Amino acid sequence: MATFLWDDIVFGPIHSRRVGRSLGINLLPREAKVCTFDCVYCECGGLKRGAEKHPLPTLAQVREAIEGKFAALSAGGQGVDSISFTGNGEPTLHPDFPAIIDITLKARDRYFPEAVVSVFSNATRLDRPDVVEALKKVDNPILKIDCALDDMAAVMNRPRGGYTVAGAIEGMKAFDGNFVMQTMLVRGPVVDNTTPEALAAWYDAVRLLKPREVMLYSVSRDTPVAGIEKVSFEDLSAAAAPLVADGFNIQINA
Ligand code: SF4
Repeated sequence: MATFLWDDIVFGPIHSRRVGRSLGINLLPREAKVCTFDCVYCECGGLKRGAEKHPLPTLAQVREAIEGKFAALSAGGQGVDSISFTGNGEPTLHPDFPAIIDITLKARDRYFPEAVVSVFSNATRLDRPDVVEALKKVDNPILKIDCALDDMAAVMNRPRGGYTVAGAIEGMKAFDGNFVMQTMLVRGPVVDNTTPEALAAWYDAVRLLKPREVMLYSVSRDTPVAGIEKVSFEDLSAAAAPLVADGFNIQINA
């Protein structure tokens, strides 16, 4: 299956109907995904043995890439609406993640003060107070719970280390609801997190954490594991309906 990795530390701008002109920031190696999960649907492909041996960009390289790209775009009269930490794995794994957030926010304020800064994180590093504090500084900490059942999460997210849904939920409580929950729904012979049992556990997690927004989506590209099926917009909407009835803000991206 064709999956891909980002080559640059700062990439884009990419035009998106939803967020406008968007820059991405990748703090992981360009050669391989580095992540605490290995999700069956990951657009970066599967984890490769020895991926951690590839060096992460240094703090100086990240600073230079951000300053250089932001300054060049600004000098060329090009605006940016959104700056998102995404890329080849889990951004909070970078040891200088808190300092990089500070650098990014300062550069945003200087060059593109209207731009919204988001971090897509799988929420496995919320046991670190410095990571939580950094995530609280950005406009959109976007934190993942795909499945609130440990045995299903083990199959879907394939976590490394001692991940538990209860641990992730405990970490998210620190945000007092001021975060966006991201949830991927998929079907297939490997895993199906649209079953009534899986959705009931997920509803409980959402109702407990009260995120200010839930981003619900399904696969849009090739997946590293065969047989992962896209969930239709209609079925995503049906899955969201009980939470919409409760008054939650659910954004469906299909
Ligand atoms: S958390 Fe994100 S980067 Fe990591 S394996 Fe899952 S989809 Fe890929």
